[in-house]
Amino acid sequence: MTEKESEYAYKKKSAWEILTKTQIKKAFDFAEEYKTFLNDVKTEREAVQRINEMAKTSKKKIIMNRGKEAAIIVPGKKPVHEGLRIIISHIDSPRLDLKQVPLYEDSESNLALFETHYYGGIKKFQWVVIPLALHGVVVKKDGEKITFTLGENENEPVFSVPDLLPHLSHEVQDTKKINEAIKGESLDIMVGSRPVSGDFKEKIKTAILDKLHTDYGITEEDFISAELEAVPAHKARDLGFDKSLIGAYGQDDRACAFASLKAILDVKNPGHTALSLFVDKEEIGSEGSATAQVTTFLRSILKKLDPSVDVDSVMLKSKVISADVNGAVTPNYTDVFELKNASSLGNGIVMSKYTGHGGKYAANDASAEYVAEIRTMLNKAKIPWQTGELGKVDKGGGGTVAKYFSRLGMEVIDLGPAVMSMHSPFEVTSKADIYSSYLAYNAFLKT
Ligand code: MN
Ligand code: MN
Repeated sequence: MTEKESEYAYKKKSAWEILTKTQIKKAFDFAEEYKTFLNDVKTEREAVQRINEMAKTSKKKIIMNRGKEAAIIVPGKKPVHEGLRIIISHIDSPRLDLKQVPLYEDSESNLALFETHYYGGIKKFQWVVIPLALHGVVVKKDGEKITFTLGENENEPVFSVPDLLPHLSHEVQDTKKINEAIKGESLDIMVGSRPVSGDFKEKIKTAILDKLHTDYGITEEDFISAELEAVPAHKARDLGFDKSLIGAYGQDDRACAFASLKAILDVKNPGHTALSLFVDKEEIGSEGSATAQVTTFLRSILKKLDPSVDVDSVMLKSKVISADVNGAVTPNYTDVFELKNASSLGNGIVMSKYTGHGGKYAANDASAEYVAEIRTMLNKAKIPWQTGELGKVDKGGGGTVAKYFSRLGMEVIDLGPAVMSMHSPFEVTSKADIYSSYLAYNAFLKT
């Protein structure tokens, strides 16, 4: 190995110094497209829709599952029985879901509110007092589906979780532990305040129901069969004087979803058949029918590609990138990171041999052989990369979908950009890392 090759990970060289001038220009252009994707796509359903449109435009083969999972396939020169090159990312992000019976009137505060149940691992204090938009679907009793987006355009109203003024929060919030100061049950969203005139018991709630019926034909019972998600209403923005960073909601894991989408759309005639898979419900443990734990979708794809293959032996020969983000070293909190092994913004795509927590529990631990293969691929293509481990050994940890695919006998490794303020309404990434991720995924899918 040459001295130059060893620089990429171990000297923690900045990706901005490794990428060429032309590549940096491309990284900034790529970021513009990425920000548009983040602004237009804030839910798993919207992601599948956009992925479908972009696949169709690029004349790529796409298979979808329940509007919440998608696979783009590019046939390889080698037969399917020699295995696939698969990248899997998730398209769900933490948020506030509406409960089944969400609407109520609080007569003391003169407000109508929606009850919520938070989705995924959030720090609750980050979700109060910010403008929220509502996205999702309402399915009426006759099966008619109403697709709902409100709060994204300047002229549309937004929604918000109220919080107590500091003058009165001493006893009920300030002296409590930060994770107990705001309760899940208090993450209710303000949705209106103007009563109807007339002789009604709950005049504000009645007015909201009237408005919903006029505008969308929705009745109160229709909320029972709905999936409405309150997400941050703000747009993706450049961050910093140098515009080197992106601040936006939902970068975990749409950074990887977008990079792997662009990577497979740019693949032509790969050696092995290339597959980019986009799944739902990672943030709540990959439980459900359109998730990484359900292998029937993948099995059906393999059978469609070649009905004669033995699906299990194809999986044994397949190689996978689990495309998910890692935690970026955070200023003022560097103590929780073991800095030699932690990932930082701007040092390229992060390769994690293993995830899990406390003694590698529930981790996919990639084989040394596979790590070597990926390392060589990245070095040969001069793609900036770094290693990453989520925090000090005893400080916490986290998992990805990697383990569900390694259970099928595939070689799997975690590879994705570092994210600052992960799971917050305003996650931060580096444009150099996002572009490095695209380059890495593209190089992998071409093999
Ligand atoms: Mn993730
Ligand atoms: Mn996550």
